[in-house]
Amino acid sequence: MIRGFAAALLAMLVGAAAAHARDISYSGALVQGGLVIASAPGAQSATVDGRAVTVAPDGTFVFGIHAEAKPEARLIVRYGDGFEEMHTLPVKRQIWKVERVDGLPPAMVNPPPAVQARIARENALIASARRDQAPETWFAGGFAWPVVGRISGVFGSRRILNGQPMSPHWGLDIAMPTGTPVVAPAPARVTLAESDLYYTGGTIILDHGYGVTSTYAHLSNVGVKVGQIVQLGEQIGAVGATGRVTGAHLHWTVNWFDVRIDPALVVAPAP
Ligand SMILES: [Zn+2]
Repeated sequence: MIRGFAAALLAMLVGAAAAHARDISYSGALVQGGLVIASAPGAQSATVDGRAVTVAPDGTFVFGIHAEAKPEARLIVRYGDGFEEMHTLPVKRQIWKVERVDGLPPAMVNPPPAVQARIARENALIASARRDQAPETWFAGGFAWPVVGRISGVFGSRRILNGQPMSPHWGLDIAMPTGTPVVAPAPARVTLAESDLYYTGGTIILDHGYGVTSTYAHLSNVGVKVGQIVQLGEQIGAVGATGRVTGAHLHWTVNWFDVRIDPALVVAPAP
């Protein structure tokens, strides 16, 4: 009798365990500014902190972690059979660098009023390019360096220019001479290709699918067109010093929609 009860209890426990035993795996960085790729076979939809994410037919989805994200992210995954599971993921904090730069020309710190309308128009263009999402999981194969060189600026640093706090530096700066080839770090569709934006000069935005985009700024040459598909390693442009800059470098940013991702967290350490 006891034995029968124990067997029934065991069956119940196993049954309960089976109901929760949905394979889900993560790759990427569970840290502020990180990009996380999840694989949940059978998943149909998911939300991260209440925000819906697109789930690929094979159960792959991706989400970014905001630079000011709380210490825990709440992930809810819904499966085709109606099963739903919540995961609480620990999010590591980042400590951001503070950079002071003095003696800059005032127009570099505060754009003249005459260009405000231009800046607003260009910001809208960039925001729209980052809302695109190709129905491709090109992001899932990982990212290569678009150009290899000295890192002259890191993601998330709080910049104080001429004593005035500015918005954080949401990119990775790689200093290389003008003309150095810039290559696509992963397959993508080009969603923006502009030769002269006010802040970022020659600018390209690549859509790697499901809201993952990457941006290349200050280019001396923009070698692609909107709508074009580029392959990993294919040259898209060249390093330059266009826009508001003090010297030639690539300003590289990665986004998950409007969430800023640290490019250094999506690539292998620099060779
Ligand atoms: Zn930069």
